[in-house]
Amino acid sequence: MSSGTGRRRDEGKRSSSGTADAMTLARSSSPRLSPDVRCNTSLLIDYCQDDGVHRYIIIDVGKTFREQVLRWFTHHKIPQIILTHEHTDAIFGLDDVRIVQSFIPFSPPNDIDPTPIYATKFTMDSIDIKFPYLMNKMWKEGQEVMPIAQLDWKVIESDPDKTFMASGLEFVPLPVLHGEDYVSLGFLFGQKSRVAYISDASRFPGSTENFISKSGGQLDLLIIDTNSLHKSLDAVKRIGPKQALLIGMTHDYDHHKLNVLLAEWSMREGIPVQLAYDGLRVFIDL
Ligand SMILES: [Zn+2]
Repeated sequence: MSSGTGRRRDEGKRSSSGTADAMTLARSSSPRLSPDVRCNTSLLIDYCQDDGVHRYIIIDVGKTFREQVLRWFTHHKIPQIILTHEHTDAIFGLDDVRIVQSFIPFSPPNDIDPTPIYATKFTMDSIDIKFPYLMNKMWKEGQEVMPIAQLDWKVIESDPDKTFMASGLEFVPLPVLHGEDYVSLGFLFGQKSRVAYISDASRFPGSTENFISKSGGQLDLLIIDTNSLHKSLDAVKRIGPKQALLIGMTHDYDHHKLNVLLAEWSMREGIPVQLAYDGLRVFIDL
């Protein structure tokens, strides 16, 4: 991969309402072949700078994280982790992070470098209740740690002015509404090409949309949730990126049929928009 090129993957989420469809699909097709088989929404960034070293960042580790690792991780490198919010579809794979950390056979648990993980204080407080053993390090000096995920927690804020670095890449937190009074985070990243990733959002606060539209010129790629297809397409129109990918589809969405309609929409509006799918790779200069 050329220097400064990022490679990303988008994974749609499984709907609880579409279970019958999902089961039919699972029986009838290989997940690798069918774009209609969807795990929880997640983005893996493979960031390669001038030194040629690949650094990985994964945004969200939901209920299907283990399945995603087995199906799609090619190198099993331990990524840094960023969390958008504390719902199950974003964090319930945290316990399984240890399977990626323990990849070197027979290595003593104490040799594992803790994986940096970035989350808001609100998200961390919630995880402290759900997975207290992942938050509270109670090891005494010299004690062998338990074989659980070793995480290095780093607090981020829901404020675009409070940027942070993960694996050498700068991220701008983008507060978005997930329901009427619940704030989730999207992220803006990339210097050479600018990418906005917004998963699990029902609405943009005006300030966030202005921030995306006005900082740094036209967005190269907008990856946006499809909680409401019409609202998402309206947001694509208002923000006006060079191209957009839709994520977070339920199983009501037929990938191929909807992409035909989206191709017509794209011709009309002059912005290429398509549905993403599990395992999709996008090559872009970050
Ligand atoms: Zn959620």
